[in-house]
Amino acid sequence: MTIPKRRCSHSRTARRWAGYRKPAAPTMVICPNCQELMLAHRICPACGFYRAREVVKAEEE
Ligand SMILES: [Zn+2]
Repeated sequence: MTIPKRRCSHSRTARRWAGYRKPAAPTMVICPNCQELMLAHRICPACGFYRAREVVKAEEE
């Protein structure tokens, strides 16, 4: 096993990570029940529906 001659500087490490460390934006989908933007694979916060017509949690008002 060989070892690296010098260790990476902080700026070099940061530059390497800069390319592929992006803020992960949550996938938003439109609720088929109330047409409101909601997080994918999660219960709709507006109407409490999940997987179309499947009431998991009903929240009114
Ligand atoms: Zn909804």
